[in-house]
Parts: sequence; C-alpha cells; structure tokens
Amino acid sequence: MDLLRDAGFEVREGGLDATPAELVALAPGCDAIVADPSVPVGPELLDAAGTGLRVVANFAVGYDNVDLAACRERGVAVTNTPGVLTNATAELALALTLAAARHVDEAAADLRTGRWRGWDPGAYLGLELSGATFGIVGLGRIGHRYAELVRPLAGELLYAARSPKPAAEDTLGVRQVDVGELLEHADVVSLHVPAAAETTHLIDAEELRSMRSHAVLVNTARGPLVASEALAQALHEGEIGAAGLDVYENEPDVPRALLEAPRCVLYPHIGSATRTARDGMATLAARNVIALLTGSEPVTRVA
Ligand code: NAP
Repeated sequence: MDLLRDAGFEVREGGLDATPAELVALAPGCDAIVADPSVPVGPELLDAAGTGLRVVANFAVGYDNVDLAACRERGVAVTNTPGVLTNATAELALALTLAAARHVDEAAADLRTGRWRGWDPGAYLGLELSGATFGIVGLGRIGHRYAELVRPLAGELLYAARSPKPAAEDTLGVRQVDVGELLEHADVVSLHVPAAAETTHLIDAEELRSMRSHAVLVNTARGPLVASEALAQALHEGEIGAAGLDVYENEPDVPRALLEAPRCVLYPHIGSATRTARDGMATLAARNVIALLTGSEPVTRVA
C-alpha cells in the first residue's frame, strides 16, 4: 500500500474481514483491484468497479479465485506473484512431509495434554524418509524447489507433469511417470499443480486406494485437488499412512471429517507465510499495478 500511495494512487482498504458486499461497495471507480486468494473476483465485483478497471493484481501465485474469462471479456488484465513465495511454500511442504511421516503433531499433543506416559518402543511409529521414493505432482517452481529440498533424503524422485522437464531430470535425477504410476510407487506424494477444472479431485477414492498403505500425501497446492471425505475415509481405513494439508476445499471451513481423521496434519494455509515471501508478494503486486496504470507491461501477467 505504501508503494501505491508513494506512486500517487489513492488506496481503499477492504480489510481482512470485508464481506463480498463490502468489497462491491468499495469498488466503484477503482482502476485496480488487489485481491488475496480468499477473495472471489467475478462479474459482480468487476462490474461494480466499472469500465475504468484496468487490472486485477492477485496477491498469490495461484489465481483460481479470479474469473479469467470475465476479466478478458471486460479488457481487464490479471497479474499474480510467482517466484517470490517458491522457497516458503516448498519449505512448508517439507515441514508437512516430516510432520505427517513422523506423527509429530499427534505426539506433541499427547505430551501437552498429559497423555504421554514415557518412552514406548511401539508408539508413534512413522515412516523413515531416508531412502524413500518421493512422487511430485507438478514440477513447476514450487515442485522443483521441493524436489531440491528432499533430494538428499530420497532414494528415488518421480514426477508427473504435462510436459517433460529434461533439465530437472539431468540436475536432480527426477524421472517422469504418469500420475497413476507415481501414486502406486511413491512413499511420499506431494501436490504442486494449480486448481483448475482438470485437477479437481485429482486425488479421490480410487487414487487413494492405489497408493501404498504407508504413503504420506502432502497438499500445499489448493484444496480442490483432494476429495476431503475420501481422504478422511482412506486414513480411517488405513489405505494410506498419513496426510499433511495446508489447503482446503472451502476455506476457511475445514471439513469435520478431516479434523477427526487419524494421522492427518492440518495447517491453516500458511505456505507463503514468511516475511520474505509476503514482502515479495506485496512488492510484486504493487509493481504490477503501477506498471499497468502507468502504461508499462506488468512484471507478471497471467491474462
Ligand atoms: P507453476 O510454476 O506454474 O507450477 C505448476 C506446475 O503444474 C507446472 O509445472 C504446470 O505445467 C503444472 N500444471 C499446470 N496445470 C496443470 C494441469 N491442469 N494438470 C497437470 N499439471 C498442471 O506454479 P508454482 O509457482 O509452482 O505454484 C503451484 C501452485 O501452488 C499454485 O498454483 C498455487 O495454487 C499453490 N500455492 C500454494 C501456496 C500456499 O500458501 N499453500 C503458496 C503458493 C502457491 P507443466 O505440467 O506443463 O509443467
């Protein structure tokens, strides 16, 4: 906001708790909308802003909250914040991988609530990651960084992607397989593809059944990739070993089935929550707005 004000723009703040109606009331006459991933940007908000609206600058790399077709129809540009949050999100995926594989949250909760009765050779037995096969779905910026981070642990690194990544195959030793083969063989499956019609419920009951019974599923990408009820059931029935989630289908709601599922580590969408990443996102969003409104090409345009 400081960058925008210093550039001479008036900033209207919606605030974190603004309702959709409040945002619509704030929009008339705006040249730019800066939205975070929890704000749906569709025809109503775009039309409320009016014909002067030039850009929707999303404060995230994922832009599934923005109706791209509606923006294109109205000649409104859309930008996102790639790259600056890659390390933060990949590191959180690593944290979820370790926490889920070793039942860290469950063990810590037992200690804090007085249920821990002392060292027990049979308690909290998790999956050892050294030598494990890691399967990465989507080897883009974050998937690639996650591969770099887990490489020292991995016995084998598999990836699924729409297009081959020969450079990563050379430097990281990753091997491309289809999603089905990846799910069947991986000890750890980490998701890094965007939310889109074709990735909705990429992991559903059938996919969960095909995974190894000790496998760990990690999702730091977007909630709709995983069918929540099917995941909860797979955990109850021991079809997979554990899950680590940062994102949910209807945030901020977290399905009760997941809250009650065993061996399920749940974080509140904190993938990009480092100071470095959030400063980078804020700066990039502001630079995109300023560029667009001063006649330059934005730094990171998606539409
Ligand atoms: P990226 O560099 O664009 O990587 C996404 C990868 O997924 C690409 O390699 C891409 O293409 C592949 N892909 C795209 N659409 C696909 C589809 N329909 N089916 C299969 N693969 C597809 O994006 P990124 O910067 O790594 O970010 C990935 C996602 O992480 C974002 O979209 C966002 O939703 C999520 N994210 C979450 C947080 C958080 O706070 N938890 C923070 C940042 C990002 P190819 O397969 O052709 O290579």
